[in-house]
Amino acid sequence: MAPQEIAEVFTEILEQARRLDPVNSRSWFDELGVVQFDGGLLEVSCPDDATARFLRDNCKSNFTQAAQQVTGHLVSVKFTVSEARKTPGELSRPNKTVKIHPDYTFDNFVVGPSNRLAHASCVAVGHSPCNTYNPLFLYGSVGLGKTHLLHAVCYEAQRQPENWAIQFLSCEEFINRFINAIEMGQLSDFQSEFRTVDMLVIDDVQFLRDHEQSQEEFFHTFNALYNNRKQIILSADSAPGAIPSLEDRLISRFKWGLVARIDPPSYETRVAIVKKKAHLRGLELSEDIAEYIAKKIRANIRELEGALTMIYAEAMACGETINLALAKRALGDPAASITKQITITEIIDVITHHFDVRLTDLQSKRRSQSITMPRQICMYLARNLTRHSLEEIGGHLGGRDHTTVMHACSKIAEMEKTDSKMRTRLGELEKEIQKS
Ligand code: ADP
Ligand code: MG
Repeated sequence: MAPQEIAEVFTEILEQARRLDPVNSRSWFDELGVVQFDGGLLEVSCPDDATARFLRDNCKSNFTQAAQQVTGHLVSVKFTVSEARKTPGELSRPNKTVKIHPDYTFDNFVVGPSNRLAHASCVAVGHSPCNTYNPLFLYGSVGLGKTHLLHAVCYEAQRQPENWAIQFLSCEEFINRFINAIEMGQLSDFQSEFRTVDMLVIDDVQFLRDHEQSQEEFFHTFNALYNNRKQIILSADSAPGAIPSLEDRLISRFKWGLVARIDPPSYETRVAIVKKKAHLRGLELSEDIAEYIAKKIRANIRELEGALTMIYAEAMACGETINLALAKRALGDPAASITKQITITEIIDVITHHFDVRLTDLQSKRRSQSITMPRQICMYLARNLTRHSLEEIGGHLGGRDHTTVMHACSKIAEMEKTDSKMRTRLGELEKEIQKS
């Protein structure tokens, strides 16, 4: 085929791929090119490693299907990054690049009052690692953008001319690699790998809580990096002091730099996020639909995206264009599954208000009936309305151990069965919590 012809066919293939899988289509598909297209092989050139990885992981089958539908032949599809298009960092550090998700950039992050500090500090650190906030500690409940910001910081730092050596991994991966290193007798390799980077980024450090030995190792890694003025960035689902059974010496270190909290986004921010997500997928979304989704889903941004996906799936299934009626239908009954995510803090607020007790009472060792009952109800509701473990719930309520929480839960469950007053009261409390 002539180059012009290849370009035309490729445009058609892209359109078809978008139709086949709107959820995984992105507006940057327009930047993709063709390296070669012959003999049943379509080699697509991608702007960088991150986009190539995204395509391989999410789009290989629909690109293949699209290519076959458009050409009428069996075609296999391959995604490559052409050397010419690689950034200087990628060229000089071919096997040390951090795995970045192409969606998770600062450009794609909507800033609002709920995340302004976290965003600003990440931008500062991304531009100038080791020189601003150290460590940088982000926390907030699930789905509020912590992982997104960590990817964005790494992406930004990687683009700086200094060629920073970056390690970015989840806390679980850190723990697994540590355990592996011990088993294989390769602890010193592990230690030198983590203690010689310029920037160490660990997501979800609350998982350190159950791993004493990993905490110990992480403590020494932290000290080595910090003393050498290397950048440390961490995220967690709670503030340093609220992570159950985390050693005090780690808690205090986490507070040495900047601790930035991320709150659930306001309505305006949610509308902007829905629009941003739609735009990223190259999809048109009218104002009223964006507002509808933002009103309907409040707590977790991942669920905003889930709602978008459901609307597109509904549109595809019915062969209709997207309108408000369709959006409502798509999010109607099935949206029962996207109910608001309840936090322990909300439960505690409702309980303290309802029983007129203070949080410190709930956390205290006091055993009078007027305190014990609200405390046990609090544990029971936390167990039923959140995904926290018994240990975590105990941690929020004065560091009680899991057997205490288990005992409280079975006691209240029993009362719920036998005592109609308790049943009514639990129902009312739950309603209040859902509303809060
Ligand atoms: P967390 O790590 O806090 O659980 P994630 O970073 O995984 O949350 O975010 C969940 C989803 O919400 C991701 O798709 C992310 O892109 C999106 N998201 C969160 N906050 C924002 C924001 N302010 N702007 C745009 N997208 C966001
Ligand atoms: Mg995360």
